[in-house]
Amino acid sequence: IPVDQLTLAAAKQEIVPLRKQLTQWGKEYYEQDNPTVEDYVYDRAYQRLVALEQRFPELKTSDSPTQRVGGGPQSQLTKVTHDIPMLSMGDVFSIDELMDFNQRQQDNKDVEVAPEYNLELKIDGLSLSLVYENGKLVQGSTRGNGVIGEDVTANVMTIKSVPHELPEPLSLEFRGECYMPKKSFVNLNQEREAAGQPIFANPRNAAAGSLRQLDPHVTAKRDLDTFMYYVPEYQKLGVKTQAAALDRMRELGFNVNPNNRVVHNRQEITAYIEEYTAKRDQLSYGIDGIVEKVNDLDTEIALGNTVKVPRWEIAYKFPPEEQATVVRDIEWTV
Ligand code: NAD
Repeated sequence: IPVDQLTLAAAKQEIVPLRKQLTQWGKEYYEQDNPTVEDYVYDRAYQRLVALEQRFPELKTSDSPTQRVGGGPQSQLTKVTHDIPMLSMGDVFSIDELMDFNQRQQDNKDVEVAPEYNLELKIDGLSLSLVYENGKLVQGSTRGNGVIGEDVTANVMTIKSVPHELPEPLSLEFRGECYMPKKSFVNLNQEREAAGQPIFANPRNAAAGSLRQLDPHVTAKRDLDTFMYYVPEYQKLGVKTQAAALDRMRELGFNVNPNNRVVHNRQEITAYIEEYTAKRDQLSYGIDGIVEKVNDLDTEIALGNTVKVPRWEIAYKFPPEEQATVVRDIEWTV
């Protein structure tokens, strides 16, 4: 039933089990690295919840999946507090929706937004925070619920693309994505199958399961990689734009995805999306969309965030590849 035809009572009856279901799927996905439904099923249910809460704001709750980032940290790993929260990201499913998002930014009366965007590939892994003190890597952590993440420093030290020391004595946090290349994922699952172990549902869950290990020796064997893409305190790097921040991170020795592009209008945005929709399968790592970020970093700060997502970036999500995939039975293993 379309949301605008529902009575409050009917909406209430729908919203309670819907929220419960999404919370359960979120736990399986974020905390156990063990999803039992495809992402598009989760996304569709999530969109329905958003629509219900928009139409009936009185049914909103602060513990709703629409108001919370990710999942809770794994109890056996040490917890880390993110002073600058690690947020989720809003998403759109068409170029028209993306243009509406940009228009709303333009209409913002408080912040003048120059229509210059940095487009990046949306890497299908899990968020990673790396903290350096005087140029030395001192902490690696996961996003967790955005404020409390998991300490995975020893595990991160085993990832080849993560520099243990920077060429400059910077005290700074860098954020990005930890992922498992497609080939490594296939090899890992083959090995696991041969050994009679449960296999991972997709490279994203394999990366998360491999990084969130209690034993760094296990992580070391898993062939994880990284793409770094964000510096919350960009002022300390002396950069003014997202594109320049990526260049600086490259200079510092981080792995930075080479495919970002600065664009200004619908035509350029469409060309980029079409190009990477076509190239997607040829890439050696999984991507599930395109991220659009306002290129001017001071404008990003001025736009700020909602409780869950930044107002200066948005994900354009690719349509699901094959809707009929059976989700295999997998287990969380430490
Ligand atoms: P998200 O993972 O879709 O998007 C936010 C994340 O994108 C960021 O945290 C960051 O880690 C990542 N990212 C990748 N490349 C980036 C780049 N270039 N710049 C900035 N960030 C980049 O958001 P989310 O809220 O963490 O998770 C929602 C996703 O998880 C949806 O796709 C949903 O389908 C899936 N999910 C699935 C299930 C399931 O049961 N199948 C359950 C929960 C969530």
